[in-house]
Order: sequence, then C-alpha cells, then structure tokens
Amino acid sequence: MTQRAIRAPAMTFHGDPFLVPAGEALRHWPDALMRIEDGRIASIEDAEEGLKRLPAGVPVTHYEDALICPGFIDAHVHYPQTQMIGAFGAELLEWLERYTFVAEQDFADAGHARDVAARFLRELLRAGTTTASVYCTVHPQSVDALFEESERFNTRMIAGKVLMDRNAPDALLDTAERGYAESKALIGKWHGRGRQLYCITPRFAPSSSEEQLQAAGKLWREHPGTYMQTHLCENQGEIEWVRQLFPERSSYLDVYDHAGLTGPRAIFGHAVHMDEEDFACCHRTGSALAHCPTSNLFLGSGLFRMVDAKRIERPVRVGLGTDIGAGTSFSQLQSLGEAYKVAKLGGHALTPEQGFYLATRGGAEALRLDDRIGSLAPGFEADFVVLDLKATPLLDFRLSHARDLAETLFVLMTLGDDRAIRATYVAGECVYERDRPESFLYPGAASSA
Ligand SMILES: [Zn+2]
Repeated sequence: MTQRAIRAPAMTFHGDPFLVPAGEALRHWPDALMRIEDGRIASIEDAEEGLKRLPAGVPVTHYEDALICPGFIDAHVHYPQTQMIGAFGAELLEWLERYTFVAEQDFADAGHARDVAARFLRELLRAGTTTASVYCTVHPQSVDALFEESERFNTRMIAGKVLMDRNAPDALLDTAERGYAESKALIGKWHGRGRQLYCITPRFAPSSSEEQLQAAGKLWREHPGTYMQTHLCENQGEIEWVRQLFPERSSYLDVYDHAGLTGPRAIFGHAVHMDEEDFACCHRTGSALAHCPTSNLFLGSGLFRMVDAKRIERPVRVGLGTDIGAGTSFSQLQSLGEAYKVAKLGGHALTPEQGFYLATRGGAEALRLDDRIGSLAPGFEADFVVLDLKATPLLDFRLSHARDLAETLFVLMTLGDDRAIRATYVAGECVYERDRPESFLYPGAASSA
C-alpha cells in the first residue's frame, strides 16, 4: 500500500451552485490535509486534525501560496486539431473544409498520431486537465495512439474514432458498416481497460448518413456504459444544412434522438442555438451539453445560453469544453474567463463558484463520473491540481487584495492560465510539476522523483 499526504488550502463541490446557494454547494478548507492511499483519496480534513491522525512515516507534501482543487474536466476536445489551433478567417463549415479535414488526414500515419497524442496529453496536464472527452479521427490507429499515451499517464480519458460516411474528403470517409465494425473492435480493446472509456463518435449529422447514425445508435445500445459524443446546433449555416439533409425531422436534436443517440452518457458539443424543446429533450433524456466558449467566440458561432440550460425546473447537465482546435486554449481557467464574457453578453453573470463547478464536479456529472472524479472526497480517485496563487507578478499582486475565496476564484478565472498550474496529480501521482527539471513523468517514475 502506498500512502502520501498533501497539505494546502483546498476546495471542492458537493452540490450544484446553479441550483443551490454557493455556500451549500462548496466546501473550502483554509488549511487541509488530504491523505492518499493507492491512488484514491482516503481522507480530507483540517490539517490540524489530519496531522494528529496521520500514521507515522507517511510523507507530507506541503504547498504554500496554493489552492488545491479537483483536476479539470474537458468535456469536448479534438486531439488531432492540436496542430491547427489558430486557423484564420473561416466560420464552421469552411473552417472544417479548409483546415480540419486537411489536418486529420495526417492521422492515417500511426507515428504521427502517436507524436500528436503525446503532445496533446502533456498540454492537458500542463493546463491541469485530468479527464477529457476526446474526438480522434476516422482512423482506428488514432484512437490506439491516444489511449496508449493515456494509459502511460494513467489518466481517465474518454475517446473514440470519428464516424463519417459523407460530405468529407474520401480519405476521411468510412461506411456505416465499417464504422460500426471498427468502433466495436475498439470498444472491445479499450473500454474499461484501466481508466480508459470508449465514446462512439459520429462527428455531426451532416457527415453521417441516416444509416450510419442508426448503426451508431445500435452499437451504443449494445454496449452499456459506453459514451456517445457529437456536435449540435453550433452555427446557423450548419443548422440550415441539417434541415435540408433531414427534412423529415423536427429539429437538429431530433435527428439524433430519432437515431437513438440521446440519453445518459450522450455529450452534445456547443448547443449554441437551442430552443426550449431542445433543452427539455436533453433534461428528459439525461443528455449532457458541452459549453465551448473560446471556440464559439473564435469561429463567431454565437453565445451559449447557460441560464436557459441550467433552468432550475429542468436543469440540463453541462460540462465545459475547450474544443481545441477551434477553441484557443487548453486551459480551463481561460475557458472560464471566456464563459463569463459569453454569459455577460447574454445579460447574465457566471459566478466564480458556478465556473469552478463547471470545470470540475459539473463536468463529472455531465460525464456520469461524479461518483469517482471531480470532487475531493474519501473514496474518489486522487486526480487534482495545485493552483499557484503567485504564478505571475500580476496574479500575486491582485490576489494580495482579494477579500475571500470567491474573489480569489474569480481572479483565477480572469487572469489564470497554464502558468497557474503548479502541479497536476493523476491517481495520486504527481505526473506534472511545472518547476521540476523534468516536468512530465509517468506514474512510477513520478513517485520516485
Ligand atoms: Zn468540436
């Protein structure tokens, strides 16, 4: 049995601050001791009490000028697009054609896929993100590359092969039958292996035929516990195209619902242009939305209506996505800063507690993993980040004037980025430490460092 303890100020959520007052949803320890046993949190309590109870010989790592919170969760991201962040000038459909579909063809080469997967995982960890729901490409080897690297870091990742059988370059197309067979084989190989989870991934309705969407629904039903992710109502041109391609369906979301692609563990990216019926369908079916603010602003897609999604009488599960490479940062702190601005342009304010909830426990609830990640509590997997409250001269100066935790969190949302991540722990191991000579270490190597 390996044991260690971390001492630092800490915070976590045990409720949803969109639905209950922040004070009821949030737990804060000004000085906490968190004991970790075999990759899980054994206890977390005030340090004074915790130190008295700590068995002799258990090493304690003490972080000062820091705040510990659960590892960030990215509910929507494309790892193959790491190489094309910041592509100029287009909106969604043109951006896909001009940049994305060109980049994704490189992933026919397994060596290239492995290289990008390695960089991608490191960027996530550098940003404090310990779980993500990831789109690969149409190539099965792109999925192997991502899961192999995730397995080395022991991160809990959700990922899948993109399904596309029309409206994309020939080199990126499968067929309904081949997409089904390849996804099924990948489920057999990866779903539930260590911490890896499989996600059936039709890119979006315009690039999958009705036959392929039906096959995806069938596959999902045949494999309980697997995930389904796709895009929904991102941009007006896209929505109009779906209307033309599926004239018999009442809405974009109805296309997926009809194919059996709504329900628990369904994650719909963007959902910018939704009506009441769409939100009600998500609530009723238990489907989740991934809000991707940096991407929606970058492509000019529109403003997500958080206030409508989280309406108290029929709340929808919402996670926070970076949507790299239409998104512009791996950092969920930066996503939160932009989410605040998106909400503000819609006439509302996202509170700091709501923000940090979205990036942690809210994401875990969206991904139906809130019984094991997204919180600092006994029994949970010990995925957490150490935020550096003195990461930059400006952050240090500004936070010296913060009056309480809420203000500290809000300043972190506004000024924070990957520089504010001092360390990232995965299943109790410090796999990333900003100031260590070798910042990234696989578990095992990390514990002896
Ligand atoms: Zn996306």
